[in-house]
Amino acid sequence: MRDRDNWDAKPVFVDGKYISKDAWFDRDGKGFQPQVHYFVGGATKLYGAALYRLRPGDFGEVRHVSGISPAWPLSYDDFEPWYSEAERLYQVHGNAGEDPTEGHRSEPYPWPAVSHEPRLQQISDDLAKGGYHPFHAPCGIMLDEAHRPMSTCIRCAWCDGYPCLVHAKADAEIIAVRPLLNRPNVTLLTGAEVIRLETDDSGRTVTGIVVSRDGNREVYRGDIVAICAGAANSAKLLLNSANDRHPNGLANRSDQVGRNYMFHNCKAVAALSKERNDTIYQKTLGINDFYFATKDYEYPAGNIQMVGKSNAEAMRGEQPDLTWFAPEWGLTDTARHSVDFWLTTEDLPIPENRVTTDKDGHVHLTYSPTNAEEADRLYEELKKILNHTGMAAHHVFRKNFYMDMGIPLAGCAHQAGTCRFGTDPAASVLDTNCKAHELDNLYVVDTSFFPSIGAVNPALTAIANALRVGDHILSRIT
Ligand SMILES: Cc1cc2nc3c(=O)[nH]c(=O)nc-3n(C[C@H](O)[C@H](O)[C@H](O)COP(=O)(O)OP(=O)(O)OC[C@H]3O[C@@H](n4cnc5c(N)ncnc54)[C@H](O)[C@@H]3O)c2cc1C
Ligand code: SF4
Repeated sequence: MRDRDNWDAKPVFVDGKYISKDAWFDRDGKGFQPQVHYFVGGATKLYGAALYRLRPGDFGEVRHVSGISPAWPLSYDDFEPWYSEAERLYQVHGNAGEDPTEGHRSEPYPWPAVSHEPRLQQISDDLAKGGYHPFHAPCGIMLDEAHRPMSTCIRCAWCDGYPCLVHAKADAEIIAVRPLLNRPNVTLLTGAEVIRLETDDSGRTVTGIVVSRDGNREVYRGDIVAICAGAANSAKLLLNSANDRHPNGLANRSDQVGRNYMFHNCKAVAALSKERNDTIYQKTLGINDFYFATKDYEYPAGNIQMVGKSNAEAMRGEQPDLTWFAPEWGLTDTARHSVDFWLTTEDLPIPENRVTTDKDGHVHLTYSPTNAEEADRLYEELKKILNHTGMAAHHVFRKNFYMDMGIPLAGCAHQAGTCRFGTDPAASVLDTNCKAHELDNLYVVDTSFFPSIGAVNPALTAIANALRVGDHILSRIT
């Protein structure tokens, strides 16, 4: 996946070149193409590399308008050293101390925050004047602003949603896979789909990993097996691996495999103002003032951050009738003047929101939104920000245009939760080391383990957890 199309909005956003050809089905059995990415490095090849830690409060029980976000079996303090290691490994740029909701840190960010470009600096200054606490968003890009000619990252506009052409994004392939490939005990098989796990007669040990590769069936073996196929596909694999000892699917005596699917209440919002926004790399700003509550609302509303800068081609892909709001502008003008926000509200792990598989093994996804009122609140807070701080009336073109794009079921970028970890085998799939309660050598190490998802992007937590679990596995084999 390294070619000129990487940085071209039409193949990426309009033609969906890097979206898998997989088909999933909704609750009514209607097929759809999920926005999943089956590459070495997974979805991180296309991610925005906004590498946030969960807030300490996210690890506890949080009361939401639609119910309770459950506590994790481990605390922020348990994760903190692994967050630091993950930030070091993924070269996260940030500035500690600006965001009042962040947890304590044992180490500073390994890299200074990515600077705001002038329009974003202006917005940040205006927000601060308005009494908000904007912060420099944590970014996993290999940008060395002090030595720009030597910097691997060229600070371009093709980051969020595009694979990096110059390998400067801290994605899982570049950071965690490639550097290991020359080791004698590492083998990477591509084009290999795991279709089933086999166990011994006791059902306690995975003895075979059945793979479909180039049309052939192959079986691999290992003393310890970790599945990391993403929240939906890890659940799919366990469910499709039912046998006599595990009639409801592997490791599924609790009936929790596939349940509690979460993917955030997300909304992309383009705010149009009279001023041009010539920002190239826009993902430098975040606001968590509404994360746990707002001034007049007791429930958590969520996180506001920036999304990659709109361009006309990408807008065409996202919403063909976008210019309905500003008919006198073409898409190019609309994109040039837009400031693009990404709003995230936590969704709840409810058992009815779940992945199941049919007789042919295909994923069926049943999902009903939760905390929609909180997501509406966050949107209202964004409008207040835009109206009452920097982008006040004289800045906004004629009147305020907010063009919001809700993310439908297929937009499963932040999928999590289908194999939650916990201490109670009756209520969770994995133990606190992410080992299946019912098996001795099976681990699930991706976003499936999340018992709740918070309202910040999930990847850094998945990375920190993988380092934590890796350390545990190492202690078993050395
Ligand atoms: C466009 C986009 C932007 C995003 N931006 C951000 C961001 O800014 N910050 C952030 O924190 N998160 C972001 N995310 C989310 C982040 O990328 C995911 O949370 C993260 O990649 C999840 O990791 P994972 O290991 O759970 O699954 P994945 O990354 O999906 O990896 C799963 C891997 O398993 C492979 N696989 C699946 N099934 C099988 C099988 N049966 N056999 C063999 N292999 C299999 C897939 O090919 C893939 O390589 C974004 C995601 C997208 C799509
Ligand atoms: S901003 Fe940097 S990391 Fe992102 S795509 Fe451009 S060069 Fe790659």
